[in-house]
Amino acid sequence: MGAVLSWLRKHSGNKPEPTTNNNTIKTSKNSTTITADDTVVDIAGKMATDTVTSSGSSSDGRLTIIIVGAGLGGLGAAISCAMGGHSVRVIEQAKEISEIGAGLQITPNGSRLLQHWQVPEAFWKTVAEPTDLFVHRYSGEVLYRETDFNTRQRTKYGAPFVDVHRADLQQALYKRALALGVVFSLDERVVALDVAGRTDASLTTASGKSFTADLVIGADGLWSQCRKTFLNDAPRSQPIPTGDLAYRIVLTLDEISDEDLREWVRKPTVHFWIGPGAHAVGYSLRGGEMYNIVLLVPDNLPDQVSKEKASVQEMNELFSSWDPTLKRFLGYVDSVDKWKLMHMEELPHWVNDEANLVFLGDACHPMLPYLAQGANSSLEDGAVLGTLLSHVKEKSQLKTALHSYEAVRKQRGEAIVRETFNQRADFHMLNGDKQVFRDEALRAGPNWDTHAAFPSRWNCPKVQPWLYGYDAVAEAEKAVASQGKANVSSGPSGSALPHSQL
Ligand SMILES: Cc1cc2nc3c(=O)[nH]c(=O)nc-3n(C[C@H](O)[C@H](O)[C@H](O)COP(=O)(O)OP(=O)(O)OC[C@H]3O[C@@H](n4cnc5c(N)ncnc54)[C@H](O)[C@@H]3O)c2cc1C
Repeated sequence: MGAVLSWLRKHSGNKPEPTTNNNTIKTSKNSTTITADDTVVDIAGKMATDTVTSSGSSSDGRLTIIIVGAGLGGLGAAISCAMGGHSVRVIEQAKEISEIGAGLQITPNGSRLLQHWQVPEAFWKTVAEPTDLFVHRYSGEVLYRETDFNTRQRTKYGAPFVDVHRADLQQALYKRALALGVVFSLDERVVALDVAGRTDASLTTASGKSFTADLVIGADGLWSQCRKTFLNDAPRSQPIPTGDLAYRIVLTLDEISDEDLREWVRKPTVHFWIGPGAHAVGYSLRGGEMYNIVLLVPDNLPDQVSKEKASVQEMNELFSSWDPTLKRFLGYVDSVDKWKLMHMEELPHWVNDEANLVFLGDACHPMLPYLAQGANSSLEDGAVLGTLLSHVKEKSQLKTALHSYEAVRKQRGEAIVRETFNQRADFHMLNGDKQVFRDEALRAGPNWDTHAAFPSRWNCPKVQPWLYGYDAVAEAEKAVASQGKANVSSGPSGSALPHSQL
């Protein structure tokens, strides 16, 4: 990952920048004098019929947007907003990022967006598409197996389930963003944000530069500085430990001498091992050249430590009574880090009252990685936001578009967070009657009880469709269309919901 970010940095100055003056992006002038209600009419008209004739408009109709954070969420939003016709700058604190746990599962709700954004074709050659998904008891017994997982996913959702190296995805998104004219300011840490009581937004970086834009998108992750500002540094702006931590491991084929394990890696599949208070996940990357393992166990890191070098011996002891195959893989690990898994209280809003600051990804809905939805849902956020903003042709329409974003995304994002905790409850059951019942349910398969969720949400006929079947772009367009209809039927006030009602 370090190499990728160095590469990103080297290439980040190659594109023409929007109008700049001493590193300040000039805010588009908005000479509008129309009222909030008029705004709604305009947006509704524009969204529904594409026939806005408002007198108020930015000089060229494009918004200036600053995205804080070049994580997967920030990059996805950059592409989506640039495709929507706006001027986008991404400000990222890292000059180099060294990723440890490099694997990522991209489920169809995420891969559908990568297709829509036309990430470079080369990216798809780097993925591994698992043919089977296994859920093992921690002893190794297979409790459930879904065969033809790859083809079934494509058939059901029209997009693939792929396991990827984070660096490959980040590079693909970055290249696509550059091609769309997104400007990157790397090695710039945002230290102050000025958004209250003004129509534009301004921020300052540690190097002393200041930037101004119509809109700031806080995509700055779990420890978001933007969120701290939004919540006036209140205690609830701080992440909360989930009680679990993750060991993140990547092995290359070269590091594995056991021929059976090499064969296991070469044929991409996904494996979960579930045990009392813990579980493990393993999957191939890069078409079967690498193996990614994540071990999820009770958190024993000190309070203020979010990541630290772990003891390989401690890790092996924790898994000493687990599946011999998993242990053989762990036997090849000579160094590993452990990461505290955090979440946070639900935010009151994802958009501020001034409609010049909006949040996405881990900055507003950090979750347990137990459904692999953190990055996928941050891509969804970016897709919805960019699609809604593509209908904004003048700044006066921004507020309504951001309120639509919150209405479309907040409930879903928070529902996914809650579902990750449900998945933990089912995967981490202590040995006993409930666990025996769960294992019977897994052996019986997903149609065991149509009223309850299957203990593996990854295969659950109730949960999987709402997770993987979600089409973020279509949802945003649906919101635009229904807003248009509401305005046609109920007049301008029909959609002018005050912030407090959203
Ligand atoms: C063990 C583990 C496994 C996971 N597996 C999966 C998976 O398989 N699938 C999945 O979808 N998700 C997975 N996730 C979750 C996923 O990694 C995150 O949810 C996702 O990466 C969040 O993306 P983001 O862009 O919102 O935030 P981040 O990736 O955290 O990006 C935030 C960016 O903002 C930058 N930044 C922060 N502060 C500032 C500042 N002040 N100024 C400038 N820049 C700043 C940071 O440097 C960073 O680049 C996993 C997580 C863990 C811990």
